[in-house]
Amino acid sequence: MQGVPTEKRVAPRAFLTIPRMQAADANQPPPYEGHNLYRTHRALQEATVREGADWADAQLARWGEVLGRAETLSLAARANRHGPELRTHDRFGNRIDEVDFDPAWHGLMAMAMREGEHASPWSSPRPGAQVARAAAYLMHAEVENGTQCPLTMTYAAAPVLHRHAVAHSWLADIWRPRLLAHEYDPRSLPVAAKTSALIGMGMTERQGGSDVRANTTRAEPAGDGAYRVTGHKWFFSAPMCDAHLILAQAPGGLSCLFLPRFLPDGNRNAVLLQRLKDKLGNRSNASSEVEFAGASAWLLGDEGRGVPVIIEMVRHTRLDCVIGSAGLIRGAVAQALHHATYRRAFGRTLREQPLMRNVLADLALEDEAATALALRLARAFDADAASADAALARLATPALKYWVCKRAPTVVAEAMEVLGGNGYVEESVLPRLYREAPLNSIWEGSGNVMCLDVQRAAQREPAAVEALMAEFALVRGGDRRLDRHTDVLGAMLASDAGEADARRQSAAIAVALAGALLVRHAPRVIADAWCGSRIGDAETSTLGMLPATLDFGAIIDRALPG
Ligand SMILES: Cc1cc2nc3c(=O)[nH]c(=O)nc-3n(C[C@H](O)[C@H](O)[C@H](O)COP(=O)(O)OP(=O)(O)OC[C@H]3O[C@@H](n4cnc5c(N)ncnc54)[C@H](O)[C@@H]3O)c2cc1C
Repeated sequence: MQGVPTEKRVAPRAFLTIPRMQAADANQPPPYEGHNLYRTHRALQEATVREGADWADAQLARWGEVLGRAETLSLAARANRHGPELRTHDRFGNRIDEVDFDPAWHGLMAMAMREGEHASPWSSPRPGAQVARAAAYLMHAEVENGTQCPLTMTYAAAPVLHRHAVAHSWLADIWRPRLLAHEYDPRSLPVAAKTSALIGMGMTERQGGSDVRANTTRAEPAGDGAYRVTGHKWFFSAPMCDAHLILAQAPGGLSCLFLPRFLPDGNRNAVLLQRLKDKLGNRSNASSEVEFAGASAWLLGDEGRGVPVIIEMVRHTRLDCVIGSAGLIRGAVAQALHHATYRRAFGRTLREQPLMRNVLADLALEDEAATALALRLARAFDADAASADAALARLATPALKYWVCKRAPTVVAEAMEVLGGNGYVEESVLPRLYREAPLNSIWEGSGNVMCLDVQRAAQREPAAVEALMAEFALVRGGDRRLDRHTDVLGAMLASDAGEADARRQSAAIAVALAGALLVRHAPRVIADAWCGSRIGDAETSTLGMLPATLDFGAIIDRALPG
């Protein structure tokens, strides 16, 4: 380059002076970030107040602001891009059975535990505590889902451990304060050396997850009050938890046991992580296969009563599946509304196109219904065991676990299409939500299993049916389509329908409960759209087929994320 004048050497200047294309010129919307996920979700705010957690307003608004920040969204993306890695041995060949996580995972866990997603109804019990937690959890589900697995399991295990602390004083003395603590402590140490602890659940084996009575893992009394557990679990999520509640065959039958990761003497328990599952979604979270090589565990409840003991944990995890799917639905719908507001085609924004307005309004309806259902169900978990609400939860939990979770993949796919090609690209987040969407329907009792559970409850627990029908009585006369539907539903629940009809029953319960909530509490246009499109003979095979006479603008405006 000798002899070339200096200014000529800066030839790329010509390139640099080419004006960069601005986002507005490129017809690309601004990134969906910096929104307060609470303040911009009216259905959630209203449901939170209505269901008894008005006192949590400021705290939820703060959490909604944190979750909506660009930095939080980028932690979520990173935790899923850089998933967990299994390290079975150290460099000297010793078994360590550790899982390494990206710092983004730890950051998200610390934030959510500070917020109390793993414990707040137990650490700060008060009326509406379940509802406040549900609202916080729903917003978290809009952003990241893998971290919610250990948070849910810890939250769900607490009532079981509390109940059995009488038999094992160390549960109360050592574990309980750490399960309620709000500081995240990811260290692999005996629990006594930690500030907080997390709990997981191990039920599913190779030969079956729905039919846990077929479990083959054995638990033999060790003679010192503990049991020796031998066998395996085919799905064992969040294996870095400090303990798991597991099912195993004891001499008296299938039993629930508390299996810590470290033993009281400080040694690692004989829980061997075989491999991590290579999953469709939920990639930030580790789900493992494990073998128990004479692991030590302690019995919770009586031998042979494993299912009744662990079912209390399962009930709470199923609640979280409903809330989590409502969050996924909101996350996808908010993205779709945001995109359609800015993106233009054929001379106007997508949000102004009549057919797109039908799709957006229909998506917004799904968000309204899922949010209302999730928070109503959470309130039922606030109730004491003898109340009508507890009876309602018996029927509503499996019905909504079936239905809301089933809606999520449909809604996320439609929302993705609103973004066109951009929606199919990882950076838009929609692909991650799409991969996540079927999971809540599969784990913690898959769709059919939920519907059969609804049928069982309807047949065996008249108080549950009564509580459900009482919800409908509150809105009698509010919408004649809903009235007709609930009459048919009442007859359906009273009849001895066969198993093959169980999905129809559960779906009928869910759309009716949503209808009842919307008729009572939502603007008339929303309730009208719901009852006219989800109840009776309306054509609902895809979204975007609402009657064209509806005021789409009113439905969409209410759901806009800002
Ligand atoms: C990512 C991930 C993480 C998981 N983490 C855990 C975990 O941490 N701990 C844990 O214990 N499990 C975990 N699971 C397992 C999960 O709970 C089970 O996969 C689920 O319960 C279904 O059990 P299965 O896979 O054995 O299917 P199966 O029991 O074989 O069922 C297969 C299908 O048949 C249907 N079915 C079953 N019985 C009937 C019937 N009588 N009539 C009609 N249909 C029926 C089910 O609804 C399901 O759709 C995880 C699963 C996944 C995908």
